[in-house]
Amino acid sequence: MDEGKLGRAVSETEALPIRARRPTVGVRVGRVLVGGGAPIVVQSMTNTDTADAEGTAGQSIELAAAGSEMVRVTVNVPEAAAAVPEIKRRMLDAGCQAPLIGDFHYNGHVLLTKFPECARALDKYRINPGNVGKGARRDEQFATISKVAAENGKPVRIGVNAGSLNQELVMRKMQENTDRDLGRTSEEILNECMVLSALESTELALASGLRKDQIIISCKISRPRDLIAIYRDLSARTDQPLHLGLTEAGMGAKGLIWSASSMAVLLAEGIGDTIRVSLTPRPGGDRREEVYAACELLQALGLRSFAPSVTACPGCGRTTSSTFQELAERIQDYIRDRMPEWKRQYEGVEELKLAVMGCIVNGPGESRAANIGISLPGTGEEPACPVYIDGRKATTLRGTYEELSAAFRALLEEYVAAKYPPRSPASGSPDSGSPDAGPAAPAPVPETLRIVP
Ligand code: SF4
Repeated sequence: MDEGKLGRAVSETEALPIRARRPTVGVRVGRVLVGGGAPIVVQSMTNTDTADAEGTAGQSIELAAAGSEMVRVTVNVPEAAAAVPEIKRRMLDAGCQAPLIGDFHYNGHVLLTKFPECARALDKYRINPGNVGKGARRDEQFATISKVAAENGKPVRIGVNAGSLNQELVMRKMQENTDRDLGRTSEEILNECMVLSALESTELALASGLRKDQIIISCKISRPRDLIAIYRDLSARTDQPLHLGLTEAGMGAKGLIWSASSMAVLLAEGIGDTIRVSLTPRPGGDRREEVYAACELLQALGLRSFAPSVTACPGCGRTTSSTFQELAERIQDYIRDRMPEWKRQYEGVEELKLAVMGCIVNGPGESRAANIGISLPGTGEEPACPVYIDGRKATTLRGTYEELSAAFRALLEEYVAAKYPPRSPASGSPDSGSPDAGPAAPAPVPETLRIVP
């Protein structure tokens, strides 16, 4: 191959380019900045009964500790509105400063007016323009919510949803399509109506006293390709910050893949200032899964760093025992448990890379590429687990699964404490949604970890 061809071949293997973030107006939500060049913010929503202040505050704190930088609660009935100030107080008492967002449908104008302490305690109101009222009442009730927000100095999210789209707008656009013989599909019309609903509602919010830097927009739909089309259109027509999410994504692999495949396309194009992954949890499942998914999505694209990444092979016929899977799972869980504390203590720890591999085929290679990696023995291999630290074989572990797990965790703790400098107070709280600090300058590897057998 000549040099010209070689040069082209190399450039073709460059990583997927991520386009610069689309410029948007910055909106301050509590202590978190959304848009305006700030890092993309992760948010989630509780599924507790909001009237249960203790339970809802508890879950909000859990979600925030898992990485959710804003937490939304439904405010659907007077009892829920009455509980909001206590939820906020409990969060603050626990040291959780994640902004609290109220989700309103149908009666937001009533609840926010009758419960002024709720209006004051919330950091943002989500309004669904399709669920504010019908006919002339819709604009009037939407304006009431906007005015409460303006009086309290709060931002709003105008959250259009395909499942509750303003039907009068849809009928008008369908009729126009027929009358003018435009030949548009019903999906195209629905997509356009979502964008129009968001833009018209933004105008109404501005006319009701809100400023541009108090309005975030979303247009959620459950079909990935339509989500991409809608947000491309929306981002071309407004500079309000956009909240991104595939609504009603569903359960398990389906919810994860459908969310990631659509949101990744948009994020790679620089579209989206805050995201939520709307997973349906299994009965009794962990609500934090949606937070982990959102963080992983941003981290996979290189847009944010939240937690150390664990490279683990899928296992195959060479791994006939479950030790390898159990160790990989336990290390992942251990990191999640330790991250809140590590993040408070150490600068740049979220950049840490680990590997837990199942045999010698790819184990040593992946382990060397990680900061700290372990390669377990495959079937028929010597029962020894080489551990690599910063690309060099540091030690070999032997023993039962419990002993291996404990020894690897101890090495991990030692590595984190030695490698990452203490977080300075000036760098801010890591759950603040403040700009990423970026990777810390690596500290020297401690002598105890430089064991080469
Ligand atoms: S590293 Fe080994 S155990 Fe893991 S998938 Fe590859 S061959 Fe299988």
